[in-house]
Amino acid sequence: MTDITRDVVIIGAGAAGTTAANQLRKAGLTVAVLEARDRVGGRLWTDVIEGAMLEIGGQWVSPDQDALKETIEELGLETFSRYREGDSVYVGPDGQLHRFTGEMFPVSAETEAVIAEITERLDAMVAEIDPDKPWEHPNAQEWDSVTWDAWLRAQTDDDEAVRNLAFATGSAMLTKPTHTFSLLQSLLMAASAGSYSNLVDADFILDKRVVGGLQQVPQALAARLGDDVFLNSPVRFLEWGDEGVVAHADGDLTVRARYAILAHAPVLYDRISFVPSLPRRQHQLHQHLSMGFVIKVHAVYDRPFWREQGLSGTAFSPYELSHEAYDNTNHGDERGTLVGFVSDQNADDLFTLSAEERKERILESLSHYYGPEAKNPVVYYESDWGTEEWTRGAYAASFDMGGLHRYGADLRAAVGPIHFACSDMAGAGYQHVDGAIRMGRLAAANILAADGS
Ligand code: FAD
Repeated sequence: MTDITRDVVIIGAGAAGTTAANQLRKAGLTVAVLEARDRVGGRLWTDVIEGAMLEIGGQWVSPDQDALKETIEELGLETFSRYREGDSVYVGPDGQLHRFTGEMFPVSAETEAVIAEITERLDAMVAEIDPDKPWEHPNAQEWDSVTWDAWLRAQTDDDEAVRNLAFATGSAMLTKPTHTFSLLQSLLMAASAGSYSNLVDADFILDKRVVGGLQQVPQALAARLGDDVFLNSPVRFLEWGDEGVVAHADGDLTVRARYAILAHAPVLYDRISFVPSLPRRQHQLHQHLSMGFVIKVHAVYDRPFWREQGLSGTAFSPYELSHEAYDNTNHGDERGTLVGFVSDQNADDLFTLSAEERKERILESLSHYYGPEAKNPVVYYESDWGTEEWTRGAYAASFDMGGLHRYGADLRAAVGPIHFACSDMAGAGYQHVDGAIRMGRLAAANILAADGS
């Protein structure tokens, strides 16, 4: 039995929790970070699989992600650019492969005009949204009452335009079918990256990676906390009241503190028994959030063979099982790595198949972009966050239809001594590591303000 007392107990050692803990420590408060897993990092996980270093979770950094960039710099980590020399490829509705450069897919002139016109309209709408308070927009209720798919289909009859516009926030970001979330949720996703155009620009949103892996960020932050990080310590009970909190974790670990930060995906709040219960509002709002689902597929080859064909490795198609794929070769590695993504219903369907059939179907899809050599990787690995008890999906959580304007304003609101921090409640950097760091900083700042520290 270990019974310790700290100023703040932080539940979760991902980017949000380790950031918050460091901020509080710097301000002179004592902390304990309780982590359910046997490792730090949460959805950041860099591992070696059959000799290949893979980013099983988050990896990319974009130029607007100031909080993440500052942290990377402060920790002395190095970044490198995603390989992007040469042509990108697109598979159209007829299954034909087209090479292209720039941001616009090689579609017909009519479809291109439709995509450009709707993109301009979306950029104008996104510019009016405050990513920290999308529910305050005068049209929030209306925009939260129409699905992303229905809104796009009301703008044009051009199916190829709709599919290409839809997948930027659908399969590629929220990783849910486009009929399950609202236009407002889609606009928030775009606003969190600055504009809809930024979001569809792979060279922007998937710009840089960290040499050696992005998990080093939470690992380095946790290392600074030393013995105040407790692994294998899922919190099961949280008593709370005016005096503070008592967190009870596995391994007979009890932490008494004046404040708590729940620094994990909101879909996991109900894994903790709160004594007394959380208020009615939180009980309700937490039920309207759910995780998206995507399989991140890694295929490592003896060399980056696509570069020999003048291909950048960047590939898109709303008609393919793997709707997007990229050159994901590690810094200084002679071997070539491709990363592909299979999202929402396609991911569900694939998991009804055997592992062998799944691999065959995914590699077949990659071969439509890169040719038959793509079918023979030396290392193949699927990141499946759906089976991870302490995450339960990927990339992150979002509200169901109508939930964002109805409940969004209360998602980050503290309940007594309990504060909340996670990428899944960020404005800027929403669903990204940058947002996790911003939310970690915010929760720490709110505690320091409440504490008069
Ligand atoms: P988490 O990382 O989920 O950390 C929460 C921690 O809390 C976990 O370690 C969990 O084990 C722990 N926990 C949960 N419940 C309890 C409990 N009861 N007691 C104790 N501990 C608990 N973002 C990017 O910026 N760029 C990308 O390229 C990118 N790609 C991604 C690819 C994949 C496959 C995935 C899954 C995510 C990706 N993301 C990306 C998103 C990014 O990884 C997350 O948004 C971010 O890491 C979340 O950080 P967090 O600290 O908010 O939550």
